[in-house]
Amino acid sequence: MIKENVKRLLASIPEDVIFVAAAKTRTKEEVESAYSAGIRYFGHNYVQEAQAMIPFLDIEVQWHMIGHLQRNKVKDALQMFDLFETLDSVRLAQEFEKRAAQANKTVKVLIEINSGKEDSKSGILPKDVDGLIQAVAGMEHVKVEGLMTMGPFTGDPELSRPYFVKTRRIFERLKGYPSANINMRFLSMGMSNSYQVAIQEGANIIRIGTLIFGERH
Ligand SMILES: *Cc1c(COP(=O)(O)O)cnc(C)c1O
Repeated sequence: MIKENVKRLLASIPEDVIFVAAAKTRTKEEVESAYSAGIRYFGHNYVQEAQAMIPFLDIEVQWHMIGHLQRNKVKDALQMFDLFETLDSVRLAQEFEKRAAQANKTVKVLIEINSGKEDSKSGILPKDVDGLIQAVAGMEHVKVEGLMTMGPFTGDPELSRPYFVKTRRIFERLKGYPSANINMRFLSMGMSNSYQVAIQEGANIIRIGTLIFGERH
């Protein structure tokens, strides 16, 4: 099932769109099936769950952190993830800077936009993005490579479109930001129910769980 789902999805999306398989709650075997069908990017939401899986997989892939990250998990997370899609505060950026400097690494991040301005959602409010970018622009070990958004979950993908459009406008506005470590390349939007709308609105990273693996256990 997983392999068929992956093959069908890979065939249906443009080649320049990065397809991240969201692996939260999935088993090592499920991840390995997705890998053998062609997935080369995986996402995880929880550092502890990822620690119990990633080191035990023998696959050459990139891991994206797609869940809210607590500052006390940054040090461990830096060892496992290639891209952090959920930077949403200056304090988290400062922790990235400190831990990445200690590890002699550069950490790549996307800024998560709370495009629906929902109290229940993580991400930074659109009005606060410029302040965060300014703070990161002075950092030596953090590189901003784009934006991510979830948008309100409604079940109807058309209702997600305005939030994707709003996020893309912020993305376009920040292109050409005059700082070497701010480079708007990736726009991560869209999940199982909304990825087609997200691609129409400019997403070049999509994050899909249910359509690959089925309903979450
Ligand atoms: C779980 C998750 C996804 C995938 O959700 P599905 O609806 O299962 O495709 C995408 N993005 C984030 C941030 C997630 O937590």
